[in-house]
Amino acid sequence: MLKVKPLDDFDYDLIKEAEKVIEKNYRYGRHHIGAAVRTVSGNIFSAVHVEANVGRITVCGEAMAIGKAISEGYHKFDTIVAVAHPHPHEKIEKCWVVAPCGMCRELISDYGKDMDVIIPYKGELIKCNIIELIPEKYTK
Ligand SMILES: [Zn+2]
Repeated sequence: MLKVKPLDDFDYDLIKEAEKVIEKNYRYGRHHIGAAVRTVSGNIFSAVHVEANVGRITVCGEAMAIGKAISEGYHKFDTIVAVAHPHPHEKIEKCWVVAPCGMCRELISDYGKDMDVIIPYKGELIKCNIIELIPEKYTK
C-alpha cells in the first residue's frame, strides 16, 4: 500500500510547468513528455524528453529536468512530475500526468531519497516519496 500525500497549490503549479514545456515543444516522434522538478529552494526546472530513433537510447523528461537543474547549480530536489502530451490522432484535449518509468525511479532516487513524485493513483493525482516506488532499491 502506497503512503500517499495530497497535492498542494505548489504541486499543481509544478504540473502546469510540465504541461507548458511540452505544449510549447511537442513534436511527433521526438518530444511528447514534459517534466518539471522543484528544488528545495522552490525553483522549478522543466524539460521535454528526447526521443531517439533507436528507442532504448531515448532520454526521459525527468532525467532532462534533473540535468537542467543540476547544470544551473541546483542539486537538492523536492518534487518531480511528468506529463504526456496527446498525439494528434489520439483526439485527447489535455496532457495527463504519468508515473516515472523504472529507469527514472532509479535516477530520481539516486538524486534525492526524500524527493516526492506526483503520480496518478487509483483515479486521482497524489504524491509519494520516490522510495515508495522503488522498494529495496539497488545500492552500490
Ligand atoms: Zn523514464
